[in-house]
Parts: sequence; C-alpha cells; structure tokens
Amino acid sequence: MPLHTGPEKPDERPRAVNPFYGEANPVGGMTEAPPQHRLPDGPLPPATAYQLVHDELLLDGNSRLNLATFVTTWMEPQADVLMAECRDKNMIDKDEYPRTAELERRCVAMLADLWNAPDPSAAVGCSTTGSSEACMLAGMALKRRWAKRNADRYPGARPNLVMGINVQVCWEKFCTFWEVEARQVPMEGDRFHLDPQAAAELCDENTIGVVGILGSTFDGSYEPIAELCAVLDEFQERTGLDIPVHVDGASGAMVAPFLDEDLLWDFRLPRVASINTSGHKYGLVYPGVGWALWRSAAELPEELVFRVNYLGGNMPTFALNFSRPGAQVVAQYYTFLRLGREGFRAVQQATRDVAVGFADRVEKLGDFRLLTRGGQLPVFAFTTTTDVTAYDVFDVSRRMRERGWLVPAYTFPANREDLSALRIVCRNGFSSDLAELFVEDLGRLLPELRRQPNPLTHDKGAATGFHH
Ligand SMILES: *Cc1c(COP(=O)(O)O)cnc(C)c1O
Repeated sequence: MPLHTGPEKPDERPRAVNPFYGEANPVGGMTEAPPQHRLPDGPLPPATAYQLVHDELLLDGNSRLNLATFVTTWMEPQADVLMAECRDKNMIDKDEYPRTAELERRCVAMLADLWNAPDPSAAVGCSTTGSSEACMLAGMALKRRWAKRNADRYPGARPNLVMGINVQVCWEKFCTFWEVEARQVPMEGDRFHLDPQAAAELCDENTIGVVGILGSTFDGSYEPIAELCAVLDEFQERTGLDIPVHVDGASGAMVAPFLDEDLLWDFRLPRVASINTSGHKYGLVYPGVGWALWRSAAELPEELVFRVNYLGGNMPTFALNFSRPGAQVVAQYYTFLRLGREGFRAVQQATRDVAVGFADRVEKLGDFRLLTRGGQLPVFAFTTTTDVTAYDVFDVSRRMRERGWLVPAYTFPANREDLSALRIVCRNGFSSDLAELFVEDLGRLLPELRRQPNPLTHDKGAATGFHH
C-alpha cells in the first residue's frame, strides 16, 4: 500500500448528489454529497452509501484486461459462495474454527507432497497473506539458523543474503526490515537472472542463505535452482560452509510441478530448505493467500513459533499478522479439490499455450524483440528492435492504455539499465481470443507510433507502473 498523507486541498465545496439515488431525494432527503476527507456528521441510508461508493469505483480498471499482475482475477461462482460463507472467520482463531484450521493443514500437506518433501509428514508450513509474508518468515528462519550456528560471533558479524538483482521487492524489504545485507548478483548481457557461480562468489561465513526464484518477476524465466545447489555443494567442499537455498516460487511453484515435472527445483534437492508460493497467483485463488514450507522442523527454529492460549486451544503459529481472513485458505483447498493434479495441469498448460502463441504473434509484428517466450512462467517480456527509433516501450504502454489494456513498461536493473521492456503476464481466464484482440490493437497502433518524430512519453514513471 502506498503510504498516504492527507488531502492536499480539502474540497469543501458542496457537491450535489443524484436526487434519484436511494433515499437521497430532494423531498426531505439528502441533496448534498457527504464530505470525503473527514467523517460525515451523521449516518447515510445504506442504499445511498452503497451507490456513492459503487460510483467512485467505476473508473478502476477492468481487472481481466490487466496484463501487469500475476494475481488471480477470475474464480468460479462456487468459490465466490464459499468465500462469502467464510469471510467472518478469522484464520488465527484455530480453536473456534477447527475445520478451517484443518483445511489449512491439508493444504500444507498437499503442497509438501507436490514439492516432493522427502518426508511429507515431517515438512512444516503455514498459510500467509501472500508470498511477501512467506518470504519474511523464510528469511527469518534462515537468519535465526545462521545466528545459532554463529552464536560465538553474532552479534558483531553482519549477516548477508545472496540473490539476483531481479528479486521481487519483498527480498529488499526483508533485508531492510531484518537488518541483513542484501548481496545481489547483477544482470549481464542476455542473462536476466541469477548466475549460480556469481552467487557462490558472493557467499562467505556470514551468508544466511541464497534465494533462487522460480520464476523471475522481470521476464518470467526460471532461475537454475539445481545448478545453484550444485555450485553451493562445490563451495561447501572447498570452504566447509553449508549454505541453504530458499526457493521463491511465488508463481513457478504452482506451475512447474504440473508442466515441468522433470525440472529439479524443489525438496528433491537436499540443499533446498524452504519454498514459498502465492496461492493468489498460479494457485488460482483471489488475493490474500500465500504459503511457506520448510523441509522439516530442523529448518524452522522452534523459538520463532508462538503458542497463544487466549483464543482457547494452543495451536503453534508462525506469522507476522495475528488476525487474517480464513476465506482464502478455504478457497485454496477448494481449488485443490476441484482441479486435482490433472485439472491444474490442464489449466496451466492452457495458460502457457496462450502465452507462447501470444509472444509469437507479437514477434511477427516485426517491431519487437522477445526477451522471453512464455515457455516457463506463462509470461513474456519484449522490447523494441534496434531499428525502432520513433517510439519506445513507454509509448506502447501509454497508448495501449487508451484501449483499456494495462501492460507495464520498465527499465531493467544493473547491469542492464540500458534495457527497457514491456511484460505480459497471462493468467487463467486470459484467452487466446483476448490475446488476438490485443495483437490487433497493437498492430493498428504501430503505423501511428512509427510516424512519431521521436519517443514521446516524458514522464516514464507515471506512464506505467511496474506491477509485481
Ligand atoms: C509476486 C511475487 C512476490 C510477492 O508476492 P505477494 O504474494 O504479492 O506478496 C515475491 N516473489 C516473487 C518472485 C513474486 O513474483
């Protein structure tokens, strides 16, 4: 959430309210809209309040046309019903809602099995509000394990975490909030994610772990987790330092198990200590759920786990939040039951097929060079070819927005700050028909863009947000 400040200029001019709305009619009712920046003096009838809020939201974008976000924008009506039935349940209250707690436990067990935990009954895990919270928890476990191993030197020694510069912002937050040095491997040439060898070179006795991403926010590519583990095995042979890997599978941990079964990235690799995913990305649930799992209790220091008895019961929890809605966890269990492995495979394959076909069609327009092709995460990034000088990716983003499409343009981090790209995230519910419409709209726009004297988007930051 942005950090908000008060209104710059409180607008106290009276604003009329539609006399047709609810009880707000001129015959004895309200004629003036309530203030927006302080609590109104009195109550409003519910129908009028509803209509006013509803109208304010009309200008929000259409979430299905949002090609920037990874987060689920469509669920079945049955999921809506279940979520509505559960929105009063507080996830923390495991004694009052033992069945919700049981569904959470089953989801953890299913994920441990899906991610090939050697002993699924030994794996531990929890639901979170999303991957960001899950990454904080995983990072805290890494830091605490390192601190215990180095009790003779810490405090004093400064812990560090090694990662690619392409990490999602949550890892920079983790390092800032928990006072861990972020050691980032830069991009080089056409490598837009972590290089295992370069990661090992940044490791030392104060490294709490290395983060591998499946897949990268910037371009949807999978980082080479197995190779990373192998390089860290060699590093251990050479130095004696045993450095655990955390896999940030925010998106890919719910794609790879179904579409890339031979890819080694999960608990089959002994060095992988923990994995997170966003239930609300390719876990296909509306926003508000993530998951963190550890290979076994040995990877999750006991002193981080809290037991409270003041809601009744004595269930251990590991979380940053206390109260949190239970509906998303129930919806996650619903999608697991509803789709099963075969269903997930079919849905994710369809999404990947759309992405790959979509990327091809964008490439065929001739003005663009694909950086990725949608074959790992169903995501692709592309930039303009070197021949294109009349316009840039920021112009494309701004002008496509006029047609209702939200497609972010952004610059890459070090050492590829020279590169700007557009990124398209295909999600369940984004059909090849919609992709076709997008390509037609883009094709129609190109002659106009090519006639520009030069790129025209001056305020590049405001033209387009980079949405994780
Ligand atoms: C989206 C994302 C996150 C953050 O996840 P939220 O569920 O939005 O908190 C972290 N890491 C990666 C790689 C992501 O794609």
